[in-house]
Amino acid sequence: MLHNALYIHIPFCARKCRYCDFNSIVSESKVIDRYLCAIEKELCALKDRYVFNTVYIGGGTPSILTEVQMEKLLQNVIRYIPPSEIQEYTVEANPGTLTVDKIRVLKDHMVNRISLGVQSFQDRQLNFLGRIHSGNEARDAFALLRNAGFENINIDMIFGSPGQSHDDWEKDLKTVVELSPEHISTYALTYEEGTLLTRDLENKVIHTLDEYVELEMYKTSIRYLTCNGYNHYEISNFAKEGYECAHNRVYWKNIGYVGVGAGAYSFVDGVRASNEKDVFKYIDGINESKYAKSFSENLELNQYASETVVMSLRLRQGISNNEFYERFGYKIEDQFGNQISSLAKNGLVSYENEILKLTEKGLFVADTVMTEFI
Ligand code: SF4
Repeated sequence: MLHNALYIHIPFCARKCRYCDFNSIVSESKVIDRYLCAIEKELCALKDRYVFNTVYIGGGTPSILTEVQMEKLLQNVIRYIPPSEIQEYTVEANPGTLTVDKIRVLKDHMVNRISLGVQSFQDRQLNFLGRIHSGNEARDAFALLRNAGFENINIDMIFGSPGQSHDDWEKDLKTVVELSPEHISTYALTYEEGTLLTRDLENKVIHTLDEYVELEMYKTSIRYLTCNGYNHYEISNFAKEGYECAHNRVYWKNIGYVGVGAGAYSFVDGVRASNEKDVFKYIDGINESKYAKSFSENLELNQYASETVVMSLRLRQGISNNEFYERFGYKIEDQFGNQISSLAKNGLVSYENEILKLTEKGLFVADTVMTEFI
């Protein structure tokens, strides 16, 4: 029996947001029903094989499920996964699809953390991003969750949209702090291949925000949120004390996890695998052979170590040599000595008291620093 994190992917959305390259489609309810049956089969196959400490249902938009569909999914989680071991149970929700009845279903089935995809409280930004909800609907959804007794809520925010001013972002930060969620994630807008946003960028319909302004927005997020009682514990994540996301910590520590659903990744005993990304192929694969893996690779030890360093550097606490040695049987500097010396000389990482971490300077160019360890 392993202690692990379980991720369940719900790849359905009411509409595709303009910036989104996640595995999600707009689909009919009967397809969702068939998908949930496949999920049940995959969950059933996990029975008695794992003990999960964290469960995370993400998407897509899990809150697009009807009450009946949501109840079926959540009942199956409890049926096949020992519920007494689950410490953190998160479901992602979109303010445009959350209702009082759905919130009741979530509350009745042991869900104890909600991640609310708000992105902005300003309707101009929301329209630009192609979100289906308004700023007021986001506030209302948060209030409904609080009224239902949810005491651990994350709010996802995006900064750096074309035309967004530093003032706009400050207003958004102020609103989110006023709501006082336990956890806040702030992501810079990215232009992913194949999205409507990238198409508009390529056609010069829109222009990216000045890099300097975007960096200032990030710096303001850190300053403002830490001043207001949030610990900046990961590059993009802030939490009140004791509310760091345990599930995501498993990814950042590069420890084992199991993914269920279309396109979901698993990482167990050094083997990384992913399910078929296409929803229909996934459903057919599970129905025909109870198997829907489309990719699997055995990680070499040094590759595993390299990915572990990269992921752990996302955490402000970094990675300790002791922890690294226990997992890989050698010291960090045995594999990365040259990189560490050169990055440390440039003030981008520190390696003191056997702990490797990003400096503040390194934090602002984290992507470049990470590539040195790959
Ligand atoms: S709601 Fe989330 S998953 Fe769905 S389209 Fe928008 S960004 Fe993508």
